[in-house]
Amino acid sequence: MANKRSKPTTLPLVPLRGAILFPNALMSLEIGRPQSVEGLEAALDKDSIVFLTSQRNITTEEPLAEELYEVGTVAKVRQAMRMPDGMVRIVVEGLRRGRIKTVVQQHPFFLVRFVNVLNKPNTDAKTDDVQALLRSAWEAFEMYADLQQRFSHETLLNIKQCDDPGILSDILASHANFKTENNQLLLEETDTLLRLEKTVALLDEENAMIKLQRKIIDRVRLGMDKNQREYFLREQIKAINTELNESDENDVSSYREQIVKANLPAEAAEKLARELKRLERMSSSSPETALAKDYIECVLQLPWNEKTEDNNDLINAEKILNEDHYGLEKVKERIIEFLAVRQTAKRKDAPVLCLLGPPGVGKTSVAKSVARALGRKYVRISLGGVRDEADIRGHRKTYIGSMPGRIIAGMRQAGTANPLILLDEADKMGHDHRGNPAAALLEVLDGEQNHAFRDHYVELYFDLSDVMFVCTANTLDNMPPALIDRLEIIELGTYTAVEKYEIAVNHLIPKQLDKHGVKKTQLKFTGGAIDAAARFYTREAGVRQLERQIAKICRKFVTMRAKGICKTYTVTEYNLAKFLGVKKYKPNDKPGEPQVGICRGLAWTAAGGDTLSIEVNTMPGTGKFELTGSLGSVMKESAHAAVSYIRSRYETFKIHKNFYKDTDIHIHIPDGAVPKDGPSAGITMATAMISALTGRAVDASVAMTGEITIRGKVLPVGGLKEKILAAKQAGIQKVLVPFENEGEIGEIPAVIKDGLKLVPVRHMDDVLPEALWK
Ligand code: ADP
Repeated sequence: MANKRSKPTTLPLVPLRGAILFPNALMSLEIGRPQSVEGLEAALDKDSIVFLTSQRNITTEEPLAEELYEVGTVAKVRQAMRMPDGMVRIVVEGLRRGRIKTVVQQHPFFLVRFVNVLNKPNTDAKTDDVQALLRSAWEAFEMYADLQQRFSHETLLNIKQCDDPGILSDILASHANFKTENNQLLLEETDTLLRLEKTVALLDEENAMIKLQRKIIDRVRLGMDKNQREYFLREQIKAINTELNESDENDVSSYREQIVKANLPAEAAEKLARELKRLERMSSSSPETALAKDYIECVLQLPWNEKTEDNNDLINAEKILNEDHYGLEKVKERIIEFLAVRQTAKRKDAPVLCLLGPPGVGKTSVAKSVARALGRKYVRISLGGVRDEADIRGHRKTYIGSMPGRIIAGMRQAGTANPLILLDEADKMGHDHRGNPAAALLEVLDGEQNHAFRDHYVELYFDLSDVMFVCTANTLDNMPPALIDRLEIIELGTYTAVEKYEIAVNHLIPKQLDKHGVKKTQLKFTGGAIDAAARFYTREAGVRQLERQIAKICRKFVTMRAKGICKTYTVTEYNLAKFLGVKKYKPNDKPGEPQVGICRGLAWTAAGGDTLSIEVNTMPGTGKFELTGSLGSVMKESAHAAVSYIRSRYETFKIHKNFYKDTDIHIHIPDGAVPKDGPSAGITMATAMISALTGRAVDASVAMTGEITIRGKVLPVGGLKEKILAAKQAGIQKVLVPFENEGEIGEIPAVIKDGLKLVPVRHMDDVLPEALWK
């Protein structure tokens, strides 16, 4: 059926630029051109109905009639607001479509005669098809709204409720941002189904376009992220740095030069290059910068290529060891042997030298001499108190205050790839929950693994296979067996008084005089002074305290000289107190009167040998057995063994049978604050107890050492040399030693044994006649 056309009507026309008003839609417009304002005013004067149509060319200021689209919209002006600049802001509502028939006038405003354009009826359309079309229109718009994110919930709801294809397409088109030409086509389309179809197609096109646009934007932004952003940020940092006048560029280029010069292994060079890049990006005020610089400097300072040439002349080595040390014949001999084997044997499974002995006996200084003899750099790493694996292997860089471990720090200090590293006090290393440092140390010492040592901080493989490691320890008791296994142990023992005297005269005094800038003609020491200094002011196995006393004398002399009190001085045993104060250790008590219940034992400590008197009191009671004086569990057990032995022989000793029931026994070892342990006081405790129980006094000139069994057998003990030395110093005349230690007695130097009667004992039956006063 053809469109039923209405009778032509005349209305003022307002031409629109780039906009089209659809029926059923509202639109706000600003009308400024005089011709348009005139037309609007004319409409407002009448019934506020106006004919709106778009001009073909939006740039034309005063369009001619032919430049207007013929199809436009009849609209009602809902609101009009006149602005001070002559513009009128209006809100218009589209009523229906109209087609211009004739332009009645053009000036002062357009006046047109038009006819209504009616929709083509779609009576033959299937409802399913219409429904499907409606649905696809809704979906397309939903997608559009989703992409645009600018429609209210109500708008979307209204659209969903509209099921008239003509009206729906008008509403959709008024909301969408279609081009004016496309909107014009939709306005001119009288077939409502076709119009909706076209609208859906345009919406789809628009959606696809928006998506593509987004993709492009994202891609552009990403590209910008990678290149430009980094560039822009770096430029910004540079600008900030210049402002702050703290440019790091000099550092960076200096590092770059050093990296090239250092001829690093590939892994290290690459790592540093990466770090440098990071550094460039950082602001100089950031704390990270200091950390990055520390790291770079640490790696650069490691001796990647520097090495010293080894001096393999063993005659020279021997000469140096002799120059630096008095005595120690066996030690020197074994070190020379060790060096000889090291030169010829395969390096990988070479054992690690371990110098074992009490403090101050020259372990450190022997190691230093070995380094000097070989022409290697010497570095000392103290392992005392190391409890954490990180101490050896470093902290990871993520850890606050991280730094390399002691091994890498030692290599940095050495500055060569083949130094001699002294691992001092290896037995003082502990372990806790933060990992076992001994395991890390084993890796360092293992020739199979140490060519690729990896510190947590440095994070690079470093070759330690050319390093010569030497350990020192006071005892092997606390060392893990796996570590002991890798060691070649050389023992250094206690010095005798004679040795101490010789060391003082030949080494300690010249060294200290030199250190204090004193000539040997200015400050002299008599033999008596040296002896007295060792005897009354020190109690040690080595000579460290003695060296300190000598240093103290030198200091005092230098002060006296500076004050003009004297120019030269001779230190004797009589004026020694002027320098060193009152005697710290009493002269050895001459063994006193024989006493009941007191017996002299001999002990071995890290500082050498010592005598200890064991006191026993007995009193009527209930058979209590008390032990005091910080005794360890082994010593306590030893006391119980002694009691058991005495009970089994009560008849022989003429002790009454039930003494263990009605007599309290108290054993005490003086120096209560010093912990004591070990089985070697067994026979001493037994003798003191028998003395107390029988009332027979003990010979005060006798000292003894030996473990006891419950049957009274005497078992061998350790540290005999030190113990005998201590006994001699204490003025003892007779020492009872376990028979099984006899072999060792032969090895003890005659100077120590001279004037002492050493009696080997197998059983308590041998001990008592020697010790108890008849
Ligand atoms: P340790 O490492 O065993 O604790 P040191 O090596 O530190 O002992 O020795 C302490 C001091 O005694 C050093 O000055 C050392 O030179 C000196 N010294 C030790 N033994 C001798 C010796 N046999 N000859 C010369 N000096 C010695």
